[in-house]
Amino acid sequence: MNDNIVVLTGGVGGAKLVDGLYRILPTGSLTAIVNTGDDFRHFGLPISPDLDTLLYTLSGKANVAQGWGREGESWTFMDAARSLGAEDWFNLGDGDLALHILRRAAFENGDTLSVVTSRFAAQWGVSLPILPMSDDAVETWVDSDEGPLSFQRYFVGRQCAPQVSAIRFRGAKQAKPAPGVVEAIEAASAIIIAPSNPWLSIDPILAIPQLREALTLRKVPLVAVSPLIEGKAVKGPTRKLMDELGIHPSNASIAEHYGDLLDGLLTHIGDDTPSYIYGAQTNTLMLTHEDRIRVARSSLELARKCKRG
Ligand code: GDP
Repeated sequence: MNDNIVVLTGGVGGAKLVDGLYRILPTGSLTAIVNTGDDFRHFGLPISPDLDTLLYTLSGKANVAQGWGREGESWTFMDAARSLGAEDWFNLGDGDLALHILRRAAFENGDTLSVVTSRFAAQWGVSLPILPMSDDAVETWVDSDEGPLSFQRYFVGRQCAPQVSAIRFRGAKQAKPAPGVVEAIEAASAIIIAPSNPWLSIDPILAIPQLREALTLRKVPLVAVSPLIEGKAVKGPTRKLMDELGIHPSNASIAEHYGDLLDGLLTHIGDDTPSYIYGAQTNTLMLTHEDRIRVARSSLELARKCKRG
């Protein structure tokens, strides 16, 4: 297979797989399509958490131990803002702030999110196209026992504590895929869904009608890496959400969720694997760079094994 891999991804969990793929695939043969449903404005600045996580991870700037933000970050801005009475439920490090301020300045000059993101990536020597799913605003909201909450209020502000009954993607129906997204899917030799949260990180991508249609019409394999290990999420609310939405915490449920789109699922050794699609197993826990490469290789091998039609 001539590799031309497209990966659909959210933030932290997904970025680890994208990093593994980026390290092993030849330059020019990988494109990332990234969730922007988590994007929001804070202190008037446009924040794109998943795009920024990818930029930090692929340029070697991510704070891996903390699980978000930049390594070696300083907090002078937050301290000063707090002293002025600002809300501090969402932390913005000084280095991180540079990204958001420059993005805002670029928007004011008429640039789109895709253009700004590719400029940042080029500046940091990241050769992989990092495409936002859309340049149009799509907002993830959860219906919860505390009422409707925007994604960051739920995820960061309330630390995922509220019980979720439904998830909505405001603006998704009207959103157009960003430039290059449909073209990348049409030119792909395989598509990989990263082990990101299927409900919060991948569903917003799939909720954009033209993007989903391009995936449905594809002639190439689509495989996912399960975010569950022994029925639990490595990090974040995936398992808690599944419980609250009444979904059994198994790989069968992950496969069922992706439905007809899915040809194969990579699962953790010893975990359940649905028998009606292609399957492969490896240790899917990605703690080190070697782990990321192993999971990336296994996902590519699984995609090669899948026959369609
Ligand atoms: P977010 O957008 O920053 O919340 O991150 P993602 O949605 O991309 O990733 C969250 C998901 O990644 C969770 O469901 C985790 O279980 C999963 N995840 C994180 N690290 C790993 C890992 O090392 N292996 C696997 N298989 N899944 C992981």
